[in-house]
Amino acid sequence: MTLDIDRLRNETRGCTHVTHFNNAGASLLADPILEAVIEYLEEEACYGGYETAGKRRSELEATYALIADLINASSDEIALLENATAAWNMAFYSIDFSEGDKILTSVSEYASNYINYLNLKRKTGIIVEVIPNDSSGQTDAEALSEMMDESVKLISITHIPTNNGLVNPAEDIGKIARQHEVFYLLDACQSVGQYPIDVKKIGCDMLSATGRKYMRAPRGTGFLYVSKRILEKLHPPFLDLHSAEWTGKNKYEVRSDARKFENWEANYAGIIGLNKAVSYILDLGIHKIWERVQFLADLFRRKLDVLPGVAVRDLGKVKCGIVTFTVNGRSAEDIRQFLHNFDINVSISTRSSTLLDMQSRNLQEAVRASVHYYNTEEEIEGFIKKLSEL
Ligand SMILES: *Cc1c(COP(=O)(O)O)cnc(C)c1O
Repeated sequence: MTLDIDRLRNETRGCTHVTHFNNAGASLLADPILEAVIEYLEEEACYGGYETAGKRRSELEATYALIADLINASSDEIALLENATAAWNMAFYSIDFSEGDKILTSVSEYASNYINYLNLKRKTGIIVEVIPNDSSGQTDAEALSEMMDESVKLISITHIPTNNGLVNPAEDIGKIARQHEVFYLLDACQSVGQYPIDVKKIGCDMLSATGRKYMRAPRGTGFLYVSKRILEKLHPPFLDLHSAEWTGKNKYEVRSDARKFENWEANYAGIIGLNKAVSYILDLGIHKIWERVQFLADLFRRKLDVLPGVAVRDLGKVKCGIVTFTVNGRSAEDIRQFLHNFDINVSISTRSSTLLDMQSRNLQEAVRASVHYYNTEEEIEGFIKKLSEL
C-alpha cells in the first residue's frame, strides 16, 4: 500500500493555496492537526486553562508515548519543549564539562549548536574539533574513529543539515560513541518526520527535534530524548517546581525522568497538535513517508540538474527531502521572490547558518526547496517550468 496523496492533499488546506517547498522551514499543517489545536484553545477559553488540562490529562500524557513509539524510546525518556534549540541547549548544558574536555562535531553543524560550543569554550576551556567529511560530503566515521582519545567527552553532530540535502551516517557514529562510552548528542531537527529514527539502532544518548518542520506539528513545539543510560549523569542548568521538588530549607529533589528538562508552563494546545502530528505520522508509516520524500527529491534534483545555469548543491551518499541549488547571476533572494509571485514557497540557506560547510564549498547562499510527501510531481514540474522562464 502506498500513500494516498490525493486524500492527504485534500486534508491539507494549504495545498489549495500554495506550492509549498519550504517543509524544512515549516510544513503545512494537516487539517486534523489544525482542528485539534483550535478545539483545544476553544475549550480553554470556555472552561479555563487548568480545568481543560485536567480534563484532557490522559491525551496530553499520551503525547510522550506516541513520540517514544516513533523513535523507539520509552515515555520517561521524552521531554516536551518549545523548540529544538531549547531541547538541544537543555541537553548540552546538562553535561558537566571541565577544562580540556573535547567536543567532536560535524562540518555541517548548525549555527546555534556551534555558537554554544564556542560559548562553553569561552567559559570552561573545552576544546572543539571538527570531524572531516568523506569524499561524498557526509561526516567521515572512519576519521572520527581516529580522532577518539581520552579527552573526548561528547560527539555532537547534525543528522540532517539544514542546507545541503544529506543524511549523516548517525548509526556508524553511534557505534564509535558506544565503543568509547562518550556522550552522543544528535540534532535530529530535520530528520524526525521524514526519516525513520530508531534511537536504539543509532545509539545516541540525546536527540533533539522540533514540531513544525517535517513532523507537521504547530510552531513552538519540540522534544528532547534522553536515554535512561545517562539520565542520572545529566544535571539540568535550569530547574523549577516541575523539574524538581522543594523539600526543605536547604533541600530539593530533581525528578528522575526526562521531564526534569521541562518547564512547568507549556503550550498545551501545541502539545495536542504535536500529539496529533505524531499519530498522523504513525498512521501513514514513516518508511512510506521516507520513500516518497526520497522519490520526489530525486526527481527534483534530476530536473534541476539539466537546467542551464543551475547547480544542485546537495552532498552525501544518502539524500533527503532538502534540495538546494544556485543559479548563475541570480541571488537566492531574486529566485525566492520570483517564485513567491507564483505562490511557490522556497527558503534561502545563508552562509552563517552552516558556516563551516558553506565556507568549505565557497558558497555564500543557496536556494532551498524542501519537499514533503504531500508534494507532487506536477508541482515539481510547475516549479521547473517557472524557473526556466526566469
Ligand atoms: C531548524 C533547525 C534547528 C533549530 O530548530 P528550532 O525549532 O528553530 O529551535 C536546529 N538544527 C537544525 C539542523 C535545524 O535545521
